[in-house]
Amino acid sequence: LDVGVEELEELIQGVDLMMDATDNFDTRLLMNDMALKHHIPWIYGGCVGSYGVTYTFLPGQTPCLHCLMGTVPFGGETCDTAGIIPQAVQMVTANQTTEAFKLLGGYPEDLRGKLLSFDLWKNEYVAIAVDRLKKSNCPSCGSQPTYPYLSTSHRQKTDVLCGRDTVQIRPANRIYLNLAEIADRFAALGEGNVEWNSYLVSFSVGEHRLVVFADGRALIHGTKDVAKARSLYHRYLG
Ligand SMILES: [Zn+2]
Repeated sequence: LDVGVEELEELIQGVDLMMDATDNFDTRLLMNDMALKHHIPWIYGGCVGSYGVTYTFLPGQTPCLHCLMGTVPFGGETCDTAGIIPQAVQMVTANQTTEAFKLLGGYPEDLRGKLLSFDLWKNEYVAIAVDRLKKSNCPSCGSQPTYPYLSTSHRQKTDVLCGRDTVQIRPANRIYLNLAEIADRFAALGEGNVEWNSYLVSFSVGEHRLVVFADGRALIHGTKDVAKARSLYHRYLG
């Protein structure tokens, strides 16, 4: 699953609230800028292992995700090795959905107001006041916002996918590839196992496998090395 600026702009029309169920900060920072631009609250939720964090972002009131990055321990980097226990997910989603009820039901005074962080295994629960972390010069929520994550140049184009030894690469702008043509081109190289259908082309090269989608997105399996993945992408897709 992948979402970019264009998809979010379409999805956000008529929406009162965004709920985060993503697994990377690239997408969350994009959601954050989109929420601020459209003055829509959004509810962050993240977990790894037995650890979870949730926070309700209110445009014009609370600090935004951009303000909090680098300060708040979101713990999102290690799901590769730590895995996750479902109870942590249940805890985060119970809090997220209750906050959603309060917002959508018209009870803003009952919102938690604090960032909730817990570790079910270590029996730690803290609600942290983060209001003073709001930055007046924040490029996303400050007095002169530029929404940097909505612009092409700031958009991260690679993600190392959690636990899958795979790098995802997506083009800065939406493109449309002729998959039949690409499959022919790969087959002509004489390397391994070209398979394709109307959604994707899959192709092996050495210990790597490239899966290319019609919108230009690609999954490079067999590596976590972004530079290596990029070079394979560029070598075979230009
Ligand atoms: Zn901010």
